Amino acid sequence: MTEPAPTPAAGGAVPGRRLRQLADLAVTVLRGVGESAARDLAELEIETVFDLVTHYPRRHIDGTRIVTVDQLVEGEKAAVVATVRRVGAPPGRPGRGRRGPSRVELDVVDRGGRMKVTFFNQAWRARQMTVGSLAVFFGSVTSFRGAVQMVNPTVEVLQRPDDIEADPASGDGRGGEVGEGASAGRIYSVYPMTEKGSLTSARIGRMVDEALDRAGAFADPLDRKIRDRHGLVDRTAAFAGIHRPASMDEVEPARRRLAFDELFRLQLALVLRRQRLHEDARGIVHTTTRTDGSTLMEQFVDGLPFALTAAQARAVGDLVSDLAAPLPMHRLLQGDVGSGKTVVAVAALLIGVEGGHQGALMAPTEVLAEQHAVEVRRLVDGLVVADPTTLAGERPLRVALLTSRTGAADRTAIHEGLADGTVDLIVGTHALLTDRVVFHSLGVAVIDEQHRFGVEQRAALRDKGRGVDGQGSDPDLLVMTATPIPRTAAMVVFGDLDMTVIDEMPPGRQPVVTSWLRTPLEVEQAWSRVREQVGSGHRAFVVCPLVEGSDRVEAASATAEAERLAEDELAGLRVGLLHGQMKPADKERAMEAFRNGALDVLVATTVIEVGVDIPDASVMVIEDADRFGIAQLHQLRGRVGRSGEPSWCFLLSGSGAPEATARLQALEASTDGFVLADVDLELRGEGTILGARQKGRSDLKLARLLSDRDLVIEARSLAIELVGSDPLMDGHGLLVEELRLFIDDDEAEFLFKS
Ligand code: ADP
Ligand code: MG
Repeated sequence: MTEPAPTPAAGGAVPGRRLRQLADLAVTVLRGVGESAARDLAELEIETVFDLVTHYPRRHIDGTRIVTVDQLVEGEKAAVVATVRRVGAPPGRPGRGRRGPSRVELDVVDRGGRMKVTFFNQAWRARQMTVGSLAVFFGSVTSFRGAVQMVNPTVEVLQRPDDIEADPASGDGRGGEVGEGASAGRIYSVYPMTEKGSLTSARIGRMVDEALDRAGAFADPLDRKIRDRHGLVDRTAAFAGIHRPASMDEVEPARRRLAFDELFRLQLALVLRRQRLHEDARGIVHTTTRTDGSTLMEQFVDGLPFALTAAQARAVGDLVSDLAAPLPMHRLLQGDVGSGKTVVAVAALLIGVEGGHQGALMAPTEVLAEQHAVEVRRLVDGLVVADPTTLAGERPLRVALLTSRTGAADRTAIHEGLADGTVDLIVGTHALLTDRVVFHSLGVAVIDEQHRFGVEQRAALRDKGRGVDGQGSDPDLLVMTATPIPRTAAMVVFGDLDMTVIDEMPPGRQPVVTSWLRTPLEVEQAWSRVREQVGSGHRAFVVCPLVEGSDRVEAASATAEAERLAEDELAGLRVGLLHGQMKPADKERAMEAFRNGALDVLVATTVIEVGVDIPDASVMVIEDADRFGIAQLHQLRGRVGRSGEPSWCFLLSGSGAPEATARLQALEASTDGFVLADVDLELRGEGTILGARQKGRSDLKLARLLSDRDLVIEARSLAIELVGSDPLMDGHGLLVEELRLFIDDDEAEFLFKS
């Protein structure tokens, strides 16, 4: 590389190569990388040397386990590194047409002899396995007409015939070694390759080799003491151990260290973000106790027709201590569908109202906001607040609903009431965020189903507290979610928030009996259950297939299905319809008719997914259930089983796809959202969870949220310790420099402004 030798990092004196330096170098500085290789690398999102050295092997193959063809034993599993000599793709069986089962046959050779490899139904192998390619073949050994054979083995292409010519750097290093050293005991690093295979694993390996050779020793932001405490190898050893381990024993410690770095950087950003929020905060110390009587919140809890569950009581306890403290609350309340988050939210809002402030509850949809308004009004009915302007010195607590459907006159009145403080609690949708909404004094803000809102929208509601002149205070913020995520995953995604979990259901709930129905015969069970339940005074939801990207098509299919069911399986029942393309007034009419029993069955699209609360509904039929994710199915199912009576959920799907099978079986086996969240994470990986909040380069490449739980916790505690001892990060220049690589400019400005 042409840049000067490693220099000490700004603010710290850590010698060695810094990640920032590598991020400033285009891959083309490497000898083996010209224009066309750079284009191929770009396909893998590798543009800089830093990108390259963090392009980690997909797996490592232990060369000591590799045997030669003459050593293969029929009936056993083995791995062979061999060169492709012939590729044949005999035409499919006559009469089966082009879609018949395909067969690709290879002859491959190594020092020990020749082996036959056959792939069924993998026609693309003929393109992948060009003559002259070197690859590892893993599989069970069989014999075919006296020759050894592997059928459908796992394959890793190590090198292509054109690889060596195309690559000027191949004279040394791995180029020659791979072929000859097949049984020499080295470890092969197998890299993710480009789609078309223009860059093979071996080629990428050689580029990484050159990059690491020229980078030399890495600067390590974690000193020896910290590394020892967490059992981590140093960074130089980590990069070497993941890319070119001398033995398999080096791989996991290397991965652990690099995964720790990923998690640690993330935690550092989250913990710093929290620290900065606190530094800038102008919080409200709320009144949480009274000596001259009970508080509004206490009156509310005492007046409930049920006792709080222990988990709800704990949650309220958390809120009370947050609200009594001078720093504004930033708390996430996780609780499964039906666990009773609404009463906890109302308790928080009432603490806000106690001291003469206002409370706001924001929900992602109109249906949900309207339902919350009904619920909140019912819950706070009878409560009064102090009002010196009235004769009695008090007035009823006033709750208002504001959505985009609120009529002009009402809206004006509500805006006035919010500005002069006569509206105590406001429930609404995004309509709460418009400029015309100005609060007299916003004390507590609650966001329901927070994942439906963007970061900016959450910030916008919080900013309502400061008011137009910026002189107001920061409201306390509670965000809620009914889509639980595992605890360590939550630490990664919501590490800047405090967390409360409601892990208990109100008493008397019966689990929703869930069955996956595959055949038309089985499906009839669902409809007969619907008829039976309607007959005994209950109601049923039918959820129609999800149509990706087209509300219109989805609406049309729901409409058609409602008509079909009304004439066929559900003839004689009163069947209604609810979908996203209906006019708001029609939607509300349908919901209301279903709520009050004028409809027996509601055929709906996923608009009913969130929060809809109709205790009399006892059956949920989900069509094409394999199209939905675990979390969504669990949410949908949560619409029934909300009373103490038995309830059913039928998942209709004829799909035999392995992933769909795993999902539907998980739903059948468990009604616990936290258990399902673990399954979901296992099936889908961390990308989807992180996607919601962590964008850009901070994506975790090596860390695994399920298996690296201990690392998440260690990284978090180290981040807390470090920020606690050095809030401005003055003594940690190298870490700051690295963090900047992974966060965007706005975030950097916020975290490191001074
Ligand atoms: P979610 O957490 O899904 O938002 P809700 O707040 O809508 O759940 O509560 C679901 C139902 O349970 C509501 O009808 C609510 O009145 C009832 N509920 C809440 N807490 C309790 C409790 N402690 N005991 C009995 N019923 C409760
Ligand atoms: Mg809710």
